[in-house]
Amino acid sequence: MKATFWGTRGSIPSPSTEETPTHGYGGDTTCVSVAWAGDNLLILDAGSGLRQAGRHWHQAGRKSFTFLFTHAHWDHLQGFPFFAPAFCQDVTIHIYSPRLPGAPAGNLIEKALHAQQSEPFFPAGFPQLRARIAFHEIDPSQPLDLSSSSGNLTVRSTAVTHPGGCLAYRLEHDGKSLVFATDNEPQPSADSPLVKMAAGTDLLICDGQYTEEEHKHRRGWGHGTPALCLKEAAFAGARRLIITHFDPSHSDSLLGEMEEEIKRSPEARKLPVSFARQGKTIDC
Ligand SMILES: [Zn+2]
Ligand SMILES: [Zn+2]
Repeated sequence: MKATFWGTRGSIPSPSTEETPTHGYGGDTTCVSVAWAGDNLLILDAGSGLRQAGRHWHQAGRKSFTFLFTHAHWDHLQGFPFFAPAFCQDVTIHIYSPRLPGAPAGNLIEKALHAQQSEPFFPAGFPQLRARIAFHEIDPSQPLDLSSSSGNLTVRSTAVTHPGGCLAYRLEHDGKSLVFATDNEPQPSADSPLVKMAAGTDLLICDGQYTEEEHKHRRGWGHGTPALCLKEAAFAGARRLIITHFDPSHSDSLLGEMEEEIKRSPEARKLPVSFARQGKTIDC
């Protein structure tokens, strides 16, 4: 599997400015694609990073897309109205998303994508998209089989700690695994459902939005710190940790300091840790 980060930012897109440069780590919100078994592709979340990803795949002539959504917060949906392939008649899109506990009846992501792409928020309504789009709800208690003729892909999920609910996913293909745990306030312990699901994973992608100082004032907001992510990864026995979902106010220089600091921690000697960078691909 190869994971490409099209968006690494949390909360809201953060274009680079003179005052707060962000181009080094990236200013677009969450979107990660996972390529597996040749030409297969799974897209995790549709933050603003999806716009550039869509242009790339459109130019390459790709006609089939599978999305997996973690939850319905804006920074994970807002790229979809700018996803060029969705406007093409010869494109097929499958969208998988969680059935969150306590959510009202109906497919949460289907409703959210229609709502954000409607008047008065957006001129071209969701029904005007010309691609064939199918929505599917995930039961977190059951593994999801997304295998194709060229290989097997199994997706497991678990609820994580985030206001309104959110799912983390474990993708397994060809003896390798990748866990995507964005928008989670880590609860590092051996009993944590995420730690159990991420046991022994080859790559854990984790939300380390805040500095330790910021987190003191934002407990319960549903995001972590690099140190909490590293503790969680160590409990899980993960082989590699990538931190993402950066705070919109964090400049490249602050993120660089945070990355150097976490790399110096004792746990990082056994468990390689780094920060995601928009546009970069990680082998798993
Ligand atoms: Zn988010
Ligand atoms: Zn969120």
